[in-house]
Amino acid sequence: MNMNFSIDPEQVKGFLAEDEGESLYRYALETTQKAPCLEVGSYCGKSTVYLATACRANFSVLYALDHHRGSEEHQKGEEYHDPDLFDQETNNMDSFKEFRKTIDQAGLQETVIPIVTSSTIASKRWATPLSMVFIDGGHSREAAMGDYRSWAGHIVQDGILAIHDLFPDPEKGGQAPYEIWKLALASGLFKELEIVNTLGFLRRL
Ligand code: MG
Repeated sequence: MNMNFSIDPEQVKGFLAEDEGESLYRYALETTQKAPCLEVGSYCGKSTVYLATACRANFSVLYALDHHRGSEEHQKGEEYHDPDLFDQETNNMDSFKEFRKTIDQAGLQETVIPIVTSSTIASKRWATPLSMVFIDGGHSREAAMGDYRSWAGHIVQDGILAIHDLFPDPEKGGQAPYEIWKLALASGLFKELEIVNTLGFLRRL
């Protein structure tokens, strides 16, 4: 697949496997002519580059939502803490600077619309139909449920809901993303398309 990246997305910090990134690109290319795309949990912009490069090809846009204060597992003392993303001055995680660098290097300034706040606040008065939603935000039950409830209803017919970090085996990872995956299927509003590595794709019926 000729994906026309301005930078190698694999060099961007993040927790997305290459096959997962390529499948995000593929579905975004297929769906985003109709309406914009939204991702929840941009971090340093790895998934953003895959999604937005496809959006750019369709003259569409990507809303990149992240408070940039890191998820639970990114905080100081936690498993995925990155000291390079810690702002000593404010004593907070801050991935926005790195995110912005990625978007600039990738030449995606006119495709990516950063939304720097929580998912709940961003969704409060949201009224724009979305062709594709990618959920990769907080992994607590509360955060994952909030993301699902906030955004799944805005997906257009035939649009895509993608959920990252699906671990059907609880020994392999947290269950919150898998729970919202099951909730989406049980709702009758979505049908399963495929699971690539730990990234699941659903089609809005
Ligand atoms: Mg993830």
